Amino acid sequence: MDTKPKPSTALPVEDLLPGGGFLLESAASKEIFTAERLNEDQRAFYRTAVDFVEKEIVPRHEAIEHKEAGLIPELLRKAGELGMHMIDIPEAFGGLGLDKTTSCLVSEAVARQGSFSVSLGAHNGIGMLPLVFFGSDAQKNHWLPQFADASKIGAYALTEPGSGSDALAAKTVAKLSDDGQHWILNGSKMWITNAKIADVFTVFAKIDGKKFSAFLVPADAEGLDIGRDEPKMGILGSNTCAMSFDNVKIPKDNLLGEEGKGHKIAFNILNMGRLRLGVAVMGGAKYVLGMAARYAKERKQFGSALSDFKAIQQKLADMAVRVYMVESTSYRTTGNVDAAMSKVDKNDPDRGQRIVEAIEEYNIEASIMKVSGSEALDFVADEAVQIHGGYGYSREYGVECAYRDSRINRIFEGTNEINRMLIPGTLLKRAMKGQLNILPVAQGIQDSLHRAASPVPALGDGPMAQEIQLAELVRRATTYTLATAAMKLMTELEKEQEQLMMLADMVIDAYTIDTVVRRAVQAQAEETEKRAELHRLIASIAANTIYENAMARARRIVVELFPDEDQYTRFMELKRLHLDVTQPLVPMKRRLAEAVVEADGYPLPYVS
Ligand SMILES: Cc1cc2nc3c(=O)[nH]c(=O)nc-3n(C[C@H](O)[C@H](O)[C@H](O)COP(=O)(O)OP(=O)(O)OC[C@H]3O[C@@H](n4cnc5c(N)ncnc54)[C@H](O)[C@@H]3O)c2cc1C
Repeated sequence: MDTKPKPSTALPVEDLLPGGGFLLESAASKEIFTAERLNEDQRAFYRTAVDFVEKEIVPRHEAIEHKEAGLIPELLRKAGELGMHMIDIPEAFGGLGLDKTTSCLVSEAVARQGSFSVSLGAHNGIGMLPLVFFGSDAQKNHWLPQFADASKIGAYALTEPGSGSDALAAKTVAKLSDDGQHWILNGSKMWITNAKIADVFTVFAKIDGKKFSAFLVPADAEGLDIGRDEPKMGILGSNTCAMSFDNVKIPKDNLLGEEGKGHKIAFNILNMGRLRLGVAVMGGAKYVLGMAARYAKERKQFGSALSDFKAIQQKLADMAVRVYMVESTSYRTTGNVDAAMSKVDKNDPDRGQRIVEAIEEYNIEASIMKVSGSEALDFVADEAVQIHGGYGYSREYGVECAYRDSRINRIFEGTNEINRMLIPGTLLKRAMKGQLNILPVAQGIQDSLHRAASPVPALGDGPMAQEIQLAELVRRATTYTLATAAMKLMTELEKEQEQLMMLADMVIDAYTIDTVVRRAVQAQAEETEKRAELHRLIASIAANTIYENAMARARRIVVELFPDEDQYTRFMELKRLHLDVTQPLVPMKRRLAEAVVEADGYPLPYVS
């Protein structure tokens, strides 16, 4: 693969914006971390994971989907031999203590096989990370080396039959035994991945029905019953069961973290899970795009390959653009997290807590990755089935499995509705607390729109000048709309879920357009001419499309907020962010589709 020598790889700490900070500055400022800046170690780990999937997982696809006994644990152990579970374990506990970008690269590589990918994530993600970040030294010393080689497998039990999104409404209870030496757990859990193969669970329960807390529960504890393997729509090879606890007795020391602080563990682990899930779904989408491109090239109708039809080319281009958008926001976010983690002093006695905070800082971006990634994969899988026609509906073609497997990603790790509500909710909470300077920035934008004082930023003369301008307009429209909604509805905004959903989409748009444009600008100096042209092409299609969607959303929000009075004034203000000229997309999409067909899939691979 022909790439130019890489610039310095990690994101310089001085370029690090706070979480949500993409709304504060124009896309012309500051550098971001991108997939082009992966260092050699990161690329090597990715390559190892890709090879592992090709050699060990793909040939066993059917056996995995038919739940061959013992196969998933065996494959997890094989992944362990390559160090794939050691990435997130600190060196002091037998791990490699690598960055989050490497961890996410492995998730991306493994995503090609949905069932294995979910099983692996439940083990070395939500199963293991509660211990990594919240375990005592004794708990870590005991469990982490065994998790590293997958001689013991982990799982995470939060959801209950009556409480999913509303996780804190859990009814499972823990009570200290009369002699004060044990916890006694009673209750039930639902939808627990790896339940039948796990050796230990992080179980959430309320001490005395009040204090929400986390516990380490060994699978062989008496009174613990694992239900049937749920008959699911997809990810058939992964194991998902209900669990019940009937006076399950565990040692007192199996409390994880502090009494009554289980919510910190639950929400931080879900947040970390979203980072990995966002990248994993993008990896899945790349793979599915590859299947669609190859099929479109081979299949002939009316004497031509499907890939010669413009309607099919448009689909392939749109699929590649969605992948690029999520790839860009994903690695920008992991780069931010890594830079924030690198600022934590190695000798800080509260280092573990500081690292959790560094990851939490980017929870808005993690929710964006989860929502836009899972929806991109659904879009790509759906179009891939369509490109396959009737064969896409057959169990004998891989896209059918990918289509079914894709659907779960909008449901777990916080449904997309819950994540959408978190996005504007967290932004505004930080703004109110003065942690994020959005309100003064929004005020400045509102003033300039009101006075019609240079609301449209000047078109620069560098590469991607118009796309930078579009990104800036979307940033201004998003900040304006967010602040307008907050001021109009005040505390009532949290009840206006329709507005929250649209505001979330505007924020997702703002982060995405800002990121793809910055990435493409950087790529002009860092990539070969051929690849640089592809970055320009994709970022330009993305920027024009996002701009149009975002402006339509902003208009709709204004109509809903101001059905009568003030609507005209607000429209006039928004109109000042309107650009009459955007670019025709059809020729760009045709050119991009050509590149997708030539590459047999996503045209910007980062390892050969
Ligand atoms: C295959 C699979 C694997 C899973 N693995 C695990 C696991 O390993 N560990 C674990 O603990 N859990 C796991 N889960 C559970 C998963 O996290 C939950 O299903 C998810 O959180 C949603 O909860 P629920 O199913 O109860 O849906 P509900 O919470 O009942 O939601 C139903 C619908 O209502 C919406 N909704 C809910 N509340 C609101 C609100 N306030 N406002 C607007 N809309 C709302 C939701 O977005 C959703 O669309 C798994 C689930 C599946 C299907």
